Parts: sequence; structure tokens; C-alpha cells
Amino acid sequence: MILLTPALDALRAAWPKTRIVVAVGASAAPILAHDPNVSGIVALAPGEGTFAYTRRLRAALPESGPIALLDLHGKLRSLAIRALLPFDGPRVVWHKRDVLDTVGVKLRLRTWRSDRLHADRYHLAVEQLVGRPLPRGRLRCVVAPEEVDRAAGLLAAAGRDLAKPLVGLSPGAKWATKRWPAERFAALARRALAAGCDVAVQGSPDERALCAEIVAQAPGSLDLSGNVDIPTLMGLVHECTAFIANDSGPMHLARALGVPTLAIFGSTDPGMFAWTGHRALFAGLPCAPCSFYGRDACPLGHLRCLLDIEVEAAWTALEALLAAGPVGAVGA
Ligand code: SF4
Repeated sequence: MILLTPALDALRAAWPKTRIVVAVGASAAPILAHDPNVSGIVALAPGEGTFAYTRRLRAALPESGPIALLDLHGKLRSLAIRALLPFDGPRVVWHKRDVLDTVGVKLRLRTWRSDRLHADRYHLAVEQLVGRPLPRGRLRCVVAPEEVDRAAGLLAAAGRDLAKPLVGLSPGAKWATKRWPAERFAALARRALAAGCDVAVQGSPDERALCAEIVAQAPGSLDLSGNVDIPTLMGLVHECTAFIANDSGPMHLARALGVPTLAIFGSTDPGMFAWTGHRALFAGLPCAPCSFYGRDACPLGHLRCLLDIEVEAAWTALEALLAAGPVGAVGA
């Protein structure tokens, strides 16, 4: 959803008076809740059926005038929604990748490198919808003041010292081949603490044990795991001086908020994203990137793509980001 924001800029510039309605899963809906280009969001509730959801989506669309469709999902559910709704204007269904690429990577016959930034692929889909070239937009995440206040309250309760730089640390990721080891995150946290920073460790309820392990190995870190929902996470990242994460949603949030971000990449391709003002660490092994989104285990059994990234290299990169300060408006 964050990577969509530059394309929304382009779409809004092309069609300034159009009502832009975003259809999205409930967990991702807060990301665009305050985006100025979005006229409405229809969030798919957990367990909600396609017919019921489509009825709600229909009610959010204009009653008259052409309705254009941009399907950036290209999955079965969006196919059903497309079939059930009266899109009578232009329509574009995003082509994610060639089937030969998908099969080759899934069968482990080849590595995969993106030929362009992910956000640029969305931008191209918008250009196709509109039918002409458009200026590139910028990556953005708009956080409501009350979300910043809520995060600030949690940080204060956890013992944040406002005089110190705040380093956010998000050690989780959905896939094992995207998770840098906990002890390395802890060692990096200790370096940041010793340099006079506060360190806030953040994770979902499922990542509580992982975060607790890091906090135990880096005494003085603030444990915010488990009680931070997405809007509060947005507020928390907004408060950070720098942010460290695996290739994950919080990493994209931090980049979109202009917080200098250190990203650790293992089995996925950092070339999908822009890094001006940020830093991605990638070991560059011949076997990498071996996946589009990550795997639950290293097919070669050694996970060197992550284990070859040393704490010292991460600290050097983080120190430079802390010294450089906030990132201005950049690409995606
Ligand atoms: S070490 Fe190579 S094969 Fe193993 S997960 Fe990393 S990129 Fe994939």
C-alpha cells in the first residue's frame, strides 16, 4: 500500500476531480487513511465474503459517470470483484510478472532481480489507465497527530529519554529467509545504546518472544512489542531518528516517513526499492535473491545471505544514517 502512494500522486494529477476509492484488506487500510489523494477506502473485513464486500464497494462508487478500474492485485478475489461490478470506463489489470519467471524462481532454477522499482510498476499501470505519460509521484505516509501522540505516550511510559536520538528496531518479518538473527539485532542495539541512543524494539503480537529476546540481550532497550497496531506503528516510526528493519512493512513505513532507514536484505531483492538517504545491506551471494517475497527455509540450508551481514557493517551504516539526519522527499 505504501508503494502505491507515488502512483496515486500521478493518478490524482491526471484526473484531479475523480473520486479515487481504494479497495483493500482491513489490516492495510490505515496506511492510506489520511492520504490526500484517496477519496474513500473500502476495507475487506476478516472473513467477509466476496458478494457482501462487493455490495459495499459498489455503494462507495459514484452512481453516475464512467467508472474506471485499476486492479493492482490480479488475484482470484479481484477477478470476482471485477466480474460483479459495473466498471464501464477504462480498465487495467496489473501484470505482476511472466509465468516463466515465477516457475523458474519457485522451482529454484534461477535467481530473481526486478527490472524496475516496484513503485514504478504501479506508476506504469496508472499511465496505462490514463493513456499518457505522467510525472512521477513520491513515496509518502501521512500520520494523524493523534497517532503520533499515542506513540509518544507509549514511548514515554516505556522510559524514553527525549534528549536522546531514538532508534526504532523492527526485527520481525513474515518469512524466515528475511529475518536477520535476533542476536545480531541485539548486538546492533547495544552499539546504539552505548552511543547514547534510545532503542525502541517493535513487533506484532506474534513477534513478542523475538523482541523480548533482543531486549533481554540489549538491556536498556524499550520493549514496545505486541501493543502497537498499524496506526500507532506509523506514529512510532514518525518519532524515530533512524529505523532498522528486515525487508518488511515497517521498513517501507520508515522510508515513506523520511526516517533514515537501515534495511537488512537476505533472500529478496533490494533493487525493488529506492534507497536515497537510506541504506540496504545485501550480501550479494550468487544464490540471491532466491525468492520474490521470502521463503520459510533456506533451500541450500546455510542462510548465508543473512549470516554474511555482520553487525559491524550494520553499525557503520547506522552511524552514517544517524549523522545524516532526516530524508527529504525522494523516489520510491
Ligand atoms: S542463502 Fe541463498 S538460497 Fe539460502 S535463502 Fe539466502 S538467497 Fe536463498
